[in-house]
Amino acid sequence: MGVQHALMLPYPAQGHIIPMMELSRRMEEHGFIVTFVNTDFTQKRVLDASMKAHTESHPNKGTGCIRLVSIPDGLEPDADRNKLGALCEAMLSSMPNALETLIKDINGLEGDSVTCIVADVSMGWALDVAKKLGIPRAAFWPAAAGCLTVFLKLQELIQKGVITKEGELLDTHMIQFSPKMPLMNPRHFAWLCVGDTAENKVIYRSADVCIKGLEGVEWLICNSFYEIESTTYDTFPNIRPIGPLFIGNQPTQAKPTSFWTEDNTCLEWLDQQPSNSVIYISFGSFTIFDEHQFLELTLALENLGRPFLWVARPDLVDKSGAGYPEGFLGRVAAYGKVVGWCPQKKVLAHPSIACFVTHCGWNSTLEGLSNGVPFICWPYFADQFLNQTYIVDIWKVGVGLKANEDGVFSKEEIKSKVEDLMGDEGMRERVLKLKEEAISSVTEGSSMENLHGFMEAMKRKS
Ligand code: UDP
Repeated sequence: MGVQHALMLPYPAQGHIIPMMELSRRMEEHGFIVTFVNTDFTQKRVLDASMKAHTESHPNKGTGCIRLVSIPDGLEPDADRNKLGALCEAMLSSMPNALETLIKDINGLEGDSVTCIVADVSMGWALDVAKKLGIPRAAFWPAAAGCLTVFLKLQELIQKGVITKEGELLDTHMIQFSPKMPLMNPRHFAWLCVGDTAENKVIYRSADVCIKGLEGVEWLICNSFYEIESTTYDTFPNIRPIGPLFIGNQPTQAKPTSFWTEDNTCLEWLDQQPSNSVIYISFGSFTIFDEHQFLELTLALENLGRPFLWVARPDLVDKSGAGYPEGFLGRVAAYGKVVGWCPQKKVLAHPSIACFVTHCGWNSTLEGLSNGVPFICWPYFADQFLNQTYIVDIWKVGVGLKANEDGVFSKEEIKSKVEDLMGDEGMRERVLKLKEEAISSVTEGSSMENLHGFMEAMKRKS
């Protein structure tokens, strides 16, 4: 067998790039040379952020075999990438050619050629490029298997009159693909969660193309583990869990993946806090707050008077927002810390952390439960509602917040849920059990077997 060279293609969003890099590192450990393909825009972003942190000055520095390269996403450099419809459309029309050129360039180098392609499901068009070039391929889903099932069932949803052929919602009743799978709310289908109807249709069209790219793909792997979604894997045996991928990774060897510069001072601050005392609050990379909700959260933190670490991204509040109340940062400085972005996995592994106020992004969900931290759920959009259902109703390792008549989580509600959760021993016991299951799944269980089987299959096929 010659040199094994895997080309990895993440969707250009924070919650996709991080787990794809974790998978890349697993493949590197298994003897693959890895080319990690960002878009030009995200490549610049992660390099700028890591340069500011003085952690990594060159994408290909170090002794490892992961190379970062980039190709254009089809948008102008200064276009707004939060307009997902425009981004998906541009990627779909320009990236297949750019990817094909990149692969041909690599294959033209002496002694080198791409032997397999692993594409994010949301970049499923790349699997058609791989097929055309005769390269073995696999698809990677960085979120819950339960969420992926919606995309695998698009045709059935159309036939049953839940959505139109263009993805518009016709029936808002909760859906369930098999009796034991979680109920899902069609209003939270990912393509319906951003922009207006026209943008929804563009995103749906792109999703449809990507899902069609999965046809004939033998390896559909997912960053999750059997024990937490067993009924979904029993119903959809073609989805194979291989996670949580970050368990066992050494963060020091990491390649740049953060969109913002990590503030590591919070780790020293955590060292000074009592064990099991700190409320960790983070809403991932997309969530935007309105001014009113932001204010209620700041007041809740002040009224709680307990140690807290809050990731308030520079763009967390929408443009109308006035920011912190007068004097807030000074008043809470004695017991709280606010940062713009942090090394979240290290934070959640710290013994001082008592609970996680989260938007329920899938990576955050896995990172919290793999560290045995119970959750306060604050979902914002798309799959985050399904993840809340898992956390609250199925695994029973966290609580949801109840909005008041203005649709806001009040300071009283936030305070009382945090206090209840911090005193709930049953919750902590259950999440610690899931932590053990997560670890054993990747060290000796089905995730380990699937990951190994996948990497060996990619080697054999090449
Ligand atoms: N994250 C981080 N530092 C922060 C906040 C988040 O490194 O201060 C990471 C977090 O560990 C996770 C990712 O960003 O791996 C966010 O992914 P998730 O799926 O939770 O949410 P999304 O950003 O996609 O909504």
